[in-house]
Amino acid sequence: MKSKSMKQEKMPSAISESNPLPSGRGSCCDDDDCVADRAQNDPAIIDSLSGAISGLLEGIGEDQFREGLLKTPERVARSLRFLTKGYRQNPEELLKKAVFTESYDEMVLVRDIDLFSMCEHHLLPFFGKAHVAYIPDGKIVGLSKLARVVDVFARRLQVQERLTQQIRDAIQNVLNPRGVAVVIEARHLCMVMRGVEKINSITTTSAMSGQFITSESTRGEFLRLIKP
Ligand SMILES: [Zn+2]
Repeated sequence: MKSKSMKQEKMPSAISESNPLPSGRGSCCDDDDCVADRAQNDPAIIDSLSGAISGLLEGIGEDQFREGLLKTPERVARSLRFLTKGYRQNPEELLKKAVFTESYDEMVLVRDIDLFSMCEHHLLPFFGKAHVAYIPDGKIVGLSKLARVVDVFARRLQVQERLTQQIRDAIQNVLNPRGVAVVIEARHLCMVMRGVEKINSITTTSAMSGQFITSESTRGEFLRLIKP
């Protein structure tokens, strides 16, 4: 266990973390990783990012010096650093912190994990729910870590397809379970606000491994359990 500054587990974070746009002064949420992540508010990075946001305001034809926008570049810079903090977190290390030997060998499912991410093509949010299941093979992991690992990958620029697979692969690599299944259902603002402007469309992606692929009944049970 390295990085002592990242200790103090206190809450199962992700599930209850519902505010996608914290104002971000100092530490922007109660998440221990966030509090510990000093790099997030590194003044030099906030500075150069703020400069880029000023350029962006100019580019869309705004007056970056009018009152309402004076502090916007810095605010957006801090917000973006929060929304991309997953780049500075290691999902496999995070999972390894809470692995336990256990003989339980039925499916473990955490469903309806809130998810907020940003599409890498438009830098617009996509958000929805993730359902994560695995079948242990001698080792289990703390349930909150499953939600946390979703967060780590979601707080990066993403496409939903890759996000789904990365979550599966991290769990597979660390626990080496009999199988992993991940389903994500999300709305993409780049489809809602622009482009095809389809307000109610939901994109579903899935990634599975092991028994979820080889056993139709296991897969069927999982899909039944995640039905709304
Ligand atoms: Zn997009």
